[in-house]
Amino acid sequence: MTFQAKISGYADPALHAEGLYIGGAWHAGGGIPVADPSTGGRLAEVADASVADAIRAVDAADAAAAGWRATPARTRSEILRRWFELMTAHAEELAVLISLENGKALPDARGEVAYAAEFFRWYAEEATRIPGEFRRTPSGSHTILVDHEPIGIAVLITPWNFPAAMATRKIGPALAAGCTVVLKPASETPLTAYAMARLGAEAGVPAGVVNVLTTTKPGPVTNAMLSDPRVRKLSFTGSTGIGRTLLAEASKTVVSCSMELGGNAPFIVFDDADLEAALDGAMIAKMRNAGEACTAANRFYVQEGIHDAFVAGLTGRMAALRIGPGAAPQTQCGPMITRKAVEKIDRLVSDAVAAGARATTGGKPLSGDGFFYPPTVLVDVPVDAAIAREEIFGPVAPVYRFRTDDEAIRLANDTEYGLAAYVYSRDLKRALQAGKRLEAGMLGINRGLMSDPAAPFGGVKQSGLGREGGVTGILEFMEPKYYAVDY
Ligand code: NAP
Repeated sequence: MTFQAKISGYADPALHAEGLYIGGAWHAGGGIPVADPSTGGRLAEVADASVADAIRAVDAADAAAAGWRATPARTRSEILRRWFELMTAHAEELAVLISLENGKALPDARGEVAYAAEFFRWYAEEATRIPGEFRRTPSGSHTILVDHEPIGIAVLITPWNFPAAMATRKIGPALAAGCTVVLKPASETPLTAYAMARLGAEAGVPAGVVNVLTTTKPGPVTNAMLSDPRVRKLSFTGSTGIGRTLLAEASKTVVSCSMELGGNAPFIVFDDADLEAALDGAMIAKMRNAGEACTAANRFYVQEGIHDAFVAGLTGRMAALRIGPGAAPQTQCGPMITRKAVEKIDRLVSDAVAAGARATTGGKPLSGDGFFYPPTVLVDVPVDAAIAREEIFGPVAPVYRFRTDDEAIRLANDTEYGLAAYVYSRDLKRALQAGKRLEAGMLGINRGLMSDPAAPFGGVKQSGLGREGGVTGILEFMEPKYYAVDY
């Protein structure tokens, strides 16, 4: 079945685009097949940008830069607000598109569209509230005046796991700040990014302010843009490994970097936790996107008094999830993004089992078409197993038993990552004290979901640099300019 036939009745064909979007025009081309992870078949084919195309996109962003920078904040705000409204009006079509190319279950895709659109609404509001300073020096010698200016052309690189939200989390603040951008979405999920570009044009985003390109050569294409002196910002979301490579590359031209990288979130359940609330939270923290989230709970540390009841409850809930194609209405757990992803999960689970772990449900990839791994709970996992160190990025919940608070904190912090952490306890003082000792940029206290456009999202240690969202997210796309003034 062709992609057009497949989306008819689901998604709006007018949102479908496969060419590069540069300078407000579509440039046809092919070369990058887009797979349907639910079947393994081909969904579409999008254009493959060359280094020359990337420089053309920077030219377009440069040509639009002065006009966009000079556009009143109120006008930029209203364009972002219209983009939010258009995404909301097309929410169901976008959700189906995300489910088709990413494989996530429709309820997750609907949640992503609402979350993604909210970044445009939030930054439509923030665009008109860019802060400045006016104060005397402590010695009284002069006046300090600080203005914030748009940093310049921004290259935005996004992963496949949230194809809409990772793009809007960057485009929203960049445009609100007055920057023009080149977005490079992941090759696995380009259709959502192109659909969003169509809606942006309809919302009134001027030609060249947002350019979108897909490529099979992300290294050379990105390096060419980073070495162009007109590019002053790199905002990357993806794996820590690629983040390190890009930081090294950006150092050559001293480009400002924001990095949202990998995670290995601990989920700590103390004996005094509300068991049902902890199980509800565990299911969200583990199974949103079938575990393919940077904030996904990767290690469940459960105190000995509640351990067995927690494992029984989690096993029941995980085993009851309906597995199926992402866009099918009954599906609660869709496929993984690629066969390679299934193989990685299988390796981590098999290693853990070989080291003494036991699966209380799941534990083996599903055969047949598509890239499916079933919801899995592992117990008796050795704390030094590879599955405790690496991002699982799948529907597997390894549960570790602990005795004391100190032991839980020590195990939780024993990782190079520091993105998210979760704590469940009825004693808020105990939970907050644990939060203070946990090395993470974001804490879920008696909550399995922390993502919110109004809050600063980001990690410490090797999970990243900078924050997206919230009141500070816009400053990632601005440079403070200090005027020393006598008057
Ligand atoms: P990835 O392999 O690092 O890819 C991310 C993006 O980087 C893709 O667009 C990819 O393009 C591009 N890329 C790959 N090699 C590159 C290079 N040499 N130069 C420039 N760009 C390059 O990550 P992923 O597998 O898509 O996403 C999963 C990872 O993202 C996980 O580690 C997850 O934790 C992390 N993540 C973090 C956050 C956060 O906010 N902290 C949010 C979501 C995901 P191609 O697709 O063309 O290879």
